[in-house]
Amino acid sequence: MKITWPFNFATFLPGLLFVSGCSTPATHSLQRFEFTQPQMGSLFSITLYAPDKVTADQAAKAAFDRVAELNRIMSDYDPQSELMQLCRKPSGLPVRVSDDLFDILQQSQKFSRLSNGAFDVTVGPYVRVWRSARKRKALPSPETISALTGSIGYQKIRLDPHAKTVTLLAAGMQLDLGGIAKGYAADKALAVLRHHGITRAMAAASGDIAVGDPPPGRQGWTIGIASIDSSASGLTQAVLLKNAAVSTSGDTEQFVEIGGVRYSHIVDPATGRGLTERIGVTIIARNAMTTDALATAVSVMGAERGLRLIDSLSDVSGLIVTLDDDGKHFLESHRFKQVRKVHLPKDTPRPASK
Ligand code: ADP
Ligand code: MG
Repeated sequence: MKITWPFNFATFLPGLLFVSGCSTPATHSLQRFEFTQPQMGSLFSITLYAPDKVTADQAAKAAFDRVAELNRIMSDYDPQSELMQLCRKPSGLPVRVSDDLFDILQQSQKFSRLSNGAFDVTVGPYVRVWRSARKRKALPSPETISALTGSIGYQKIRLDPHAKTVTLLAAGMQLDLGGIAKGYAADKALAVLRHHGITRAMAAASGDIAVGDPPPGRQGWTIGIASIDSSASGLTQAVLLKNAAVSTSGDTEQFVEIGGVRYSHIVDPATGRGLTERIGVTIIARNAMTTDALATAVSVMGAERGLRLIDSLSDVSGLIVTLDDDGKHFLESHRFKQVRKVHLPKDTPRPASK
């Protein structure tokens, strides 16, 4: 998982813009609490409403503990993570894994099939090559990329739901959950809060945000959508969400520019190359695992195919922004038009991301 606030494309606007409403007596005494921790290579924040500080502190701690546990399972930076240990096992050997790892791999496979392989957690070897290209500021050679193709492909993961085993069928496979784990963690953090009796909460793993019931007296959580263009100063619109999630993917901050071409940290599994099309994708759905994975998938698929995928899924909506020589192009899915919007004054400043 990466180390930045990835795209700053969707950003929570702290408290500024909630629509007004009346507090019910039951929620009247709730106070707002905010917590932030570095987790999973980015800033993870929790905002919740609780009757008192002790309740809030306990619930937030439990939620962050759960996120830390997930990081120990899923990190591709920590050689001791369960994921990295799995990748070191000989190919062809069924390996019993934790429920969380099995679950996220099963979900990842679902998104791979849905996106026809645009989302694919076996891209690890390619991602590593691009990370090193970014450090060296030199493109990987076509030979370097083609030497890795045997280790890529979601069909090379076999999952046995009864035995809870994972078999990596090819040699040299490296799984990378960076396109889905933060969303998964945001969902799980919210679930822990709910378990502590806190339903009015938001968990934000940088650009992957899950929200529960709205703040007291409000109709939803206001989440700003920033521009694809990092030179643009402000937020352009915001959406109002409850019991839902939103994620963004794009290359505003995570990219490498070599020979005048900009390569994203998202890799097309079909070619092994970092994306060069300038595209920013915001997805809204029921949970943040879905929005995280789909935002990555749609970035790879491109605007047209991506929009078709979004429109084919119930409970999913999306906004795609592409940037080319003619400027910015906005494409909204059918259901995005129905999402409640909050219109912001032009160039509302973005909150600091770190
Ligand atoms: P961010 O983490 O910046 O919000 P994403 O959710 O789109 O962005 O995740 C990008 C990360 O996902 C990459 O850094 C890499 O770890 C992984 N990844 C890159 N390409 C793919 C792909 N085609 N399918 C699945 N995961 C990918
Ligand atoms: Mg993603």
